[in-house]
Amino acid sequence: MIKPKSSFRITRVDAGSSTAFLVSTDVVNWVLLQEGSDITLIDGGYPGHASAVVESIRQIGGRPEDIRAALLTHAHVDHLGGLVSLRERYEFDVYMDPVEVSHARRDHLQQAGPADIVPLAYQPRVLRWLSKVTPLGVLSRKGIADAKPFPEPLDLPGRPVPVAAHGHTDGHSAYLVADSSVLVSGDALVSGHPISKISGPQCISPAFQHDEEAARDAVESFTTLDATTLFPGHGPRHDGSVADAASRALEVS
Ligand SMILES: [Zn+2]
Repeated sequence: MIKPKSSFRITRVDAGSSTAFLVSTDVVNWVLLQEGSDITLIDGGYPGHASAVVESIRQIGGRPEDIRAALLTHAHVDHLGGLVSLRERYEFDVYMDPVEVSHARRDHLQQAGPADIVPLAYQPRVLRWLSKVTPLGVLSRKGIADAKPFPEPLDLPGRPVPVAAHGHTDGHSAYLVADSSVLVSGDALVSGHPISKISGPQCISPAFQHDEEAARDAVESFTTLDATTLFPGHGPRHDGSVADAASRALEVS
């Protein structure tokens, strides 16, 4: 049998005793933090990405059984869906900003629906995106019933530090990793998106923002960070001052 080629690429930033890996697909990204053999997973792609997440862990020399915990940037299906699938096979807790817990449990849903997407669907790039994400499970409404707020202290492999970035969803969180040299920004600050006409640091389309004004305030708050690499939720890794990237995003989008 011919094994399908991996549909992701992995880049890394080393920091002391741990390494942060950005795993990029053409529609969404996730992050692996590896310290010794222990792994923290940040986000998990779409429901259809669970096997790719496992394969990405194997490619960095780990095993899915090494996942000590997962962190969620926010509970949209393209970040949470893969975690739902993975937890049918592996045991680990999923932590997030306290405000995001009810969203992840699907007590309510703050996600773009047909009413937000249909007005854009005349654009070929939007149709192409829909044709890619539909088989990956974009319509899944499954949540994580036992989603948990961050424990105090947050003592996880790779020492991730949450940075509140509310707005894209009410409890969206970014994370500083690799000794605070890398910002894992989720959808608060992206560097591209299949439906976006621009490349480079930008705010995600207003169609996907729950509270656009708050989301822009969150990007403004990134302009005070010292991080030098951006691992975004969508688009390629961006090397260079994250503060400058945030300023640029506010100018171009
Ligand atoms: Zn999102």
